[in-house]
Amino acid sequence: MTSILKTENVHLYYGDKEALHGFDMEFEENQITALIGPSGCGKSTYLRCLNRMNDLRNNTTVTGSFKLGDQDIYAPTTDMTELRKEIGMVFQQPNPFPFSVYDNVAYGLRIAGVKDKKVLDEIVETSLKQAAIWDEVKDDLNKNALSFSGGQQQRICIARVLAVKPKIILMDEPTSALDPISSAKIEDTLLELKKDFTIIIVTHNMQQASRIADKTAFMLNGDLIEYDKTSKMFLNP
Ligand code: ADP
Ligand code: ADP
Repeated sequence: MTSILKTENVHLYYGDKEALHGFDMEFEENQITALIGPSGCGKSTYLRCLNRMNDLRNNTTVTGSFKLGDQDIYAPTTDMTELRKEIGMVFQQPNPFPFSVYDNVAYGLRIAGVKDKKVLDEIVETSLKQAAIWDEVKDDLNKNALSFSGGQQQRICIARVLAVKPKIILMDEPTSALDPISSAKIEDTLLELKKDFTIIIVTHNMQQASRIADKTAFMLNGDLIEYDKTSKMFLNP
């Protein structure tokens, strides 16, 4: 197994309130890692540290070491646009931009300067296929992404992240706003995606973690309590 992301001695303060209490965690390539634990234990906070999506409005201070390969994520020289491409994020509420499916998925590529229509077409199609939504949208690529169901919107959002070929995809409760069928579709999709990507997913759903995660991290009160192969975490008594 190859380590892709390593964090050490992570502390995070919202003002003077310490929300993460100094733990280490390392992630392996082409695996799904689930972060579980009770509401308020710091799962989202930790996830957002990984691509510097911390809430800066609240006087947030982060310390510790965050390394993507050799790259120091918090180095002053880090190019944030580049970082967010390497470490993409999918949120709980599907949040497609209010324009066409095509333009949603092409968005990051256009920002990266890709202009060739053929190249864009190809990557948009591949990404929508990888996100298992192509068949449902292929005849409606010009339709507003917001006109689709929640589950479809979420898969469009996943395609939007995939299009820029991130190394890591962070997911914060990506299925908890969805119906069980959409949720199951996304779980199946993630199991396919891990062949090409590394996924870190926050979930309050233990069954979900046991179904899809290679490793599971259990957090409590801003600390990492247990971190192991999922098969070992959910041993039947
Ligand atoms: P989880 O994702 O496990 O539910 P969070 O990471 O959202 O937990 O929250 C961890 C703790 O930090 C909670 O006590 C929460 O209220 C607090 N918190 C989260 N975001 C902020 C913020 N922007 N400002 C102040 N406190 C916050
Ligand atoms: P989630 O459960 O999806 O992480 P939350 O409801 O915890 O969402 O947080 C929503 C927003 O409110 C986030 O931007 C978070 O940082 C902020 N937030 C959460 N807890 C607090 C808090 N105690 N004080 C200030 N902001 C908070």
